[in-house]
Amino acid sequence: MLDIDLRGDKRKRDFVDQYEVTPVVAAKLPEIRNEYGCCGPVTDEFHIFRAKPKSGTGAADFVVMGPGCAKSLYLLLDISPNKPLQPTSFFRKGADIPEIYHRLCPFNRQLHDAIWLLCLSWRVIPKHHSLDALTAIYNKPEQPVDSVWAEKLGATVAKDRQGRGMIGIMADLRKKLPDLRWFKFDELETYWT
Ligand SMILES: [Zn+2]
Repeated sequence: MLDIDLRGDKRKRDFVDQYEVTPVVAAKLPEIRNEYGCCGPVTDEFHIFRAKPKSGTGAADFVVMGPGCAKSLYLLLDISPNKPLQPTSFFRKGADIPEIYHRLCPFNRQLHDAIWLLCLSWRVIPKHHSLDALTAIYNKPEQPVDSVWAEKLGATVAKDRQGRGMIGIMADLRKKLPDLRWFKFDELETYWT
């Protein structure tokens, strides 16, 4: 994540002057812990943008923002705000699913679901390769993303402190969210060792 102070309009204007900024994902997750946006802790709603320096060869990085700063940034970029995804509602049985979902191929959908379930379980925002994977998924929803993202996700799941796999993680989440649908990950499992 890019560590940059974006307080106030002047800093945000300089930021969009210096970086090619594109929204990646916006979501609302309950009880996020130990995560920080550009000016303070992120507690539920967050917006993540990809920023690539306009000059030179600097690598692209991500910036996390709370709803207030994100609103100002969308205005500066003159784009309509990304509506926050709410996995706790669309992951429920019988719930309406977001429009993007209808376009995801099965592989991308499983990867997308696994990433968000993991975030819900660990009470974190998507980071590192989860964010790269989501970026790739949202760029081309219909086309399966590189299988390397499934491998990397498998490695991330393996870091679960309680050693649960996705099935165990879902079972535990259901204690808090009894209506949670039961997800399949057969498209990804071939890449998990
Ligand atoms: Zn801020």
